[in-house]
Amino acid sequence: MRCPVCNVEFELASSATKPFCSKRCKTIDLGRWLDESYSLPHVPDPEDDETPEDDWEGTLPVDTTALTEIEKPTDA
Ligand SMILES: [Zn+2]
Repeated sequence: MRCPVCNVEFELASSATKPFCSKRCKTIDLGRWLDESYSLPHVPDPEDDETPEDDWEGTLPVDTTALTEIEKPTDA
């Protein structure tokens, strides 16, 4: 089996830190998992990328008060 952290081959049966090859890799994986959890709120919304900003500027009046609505794309 390959260690999911360092990708090294090792005997799963002889490992005391399954499914990792060593305690070190197990700690590394845990650290990565925690990092991803902390950064979850910053995951970009895929739908935002599908909204062309040029279209927004052409159809909406140039008014800073409208910016709050621009940040929330419509369901259309
Ligand atoms: Zn490893």
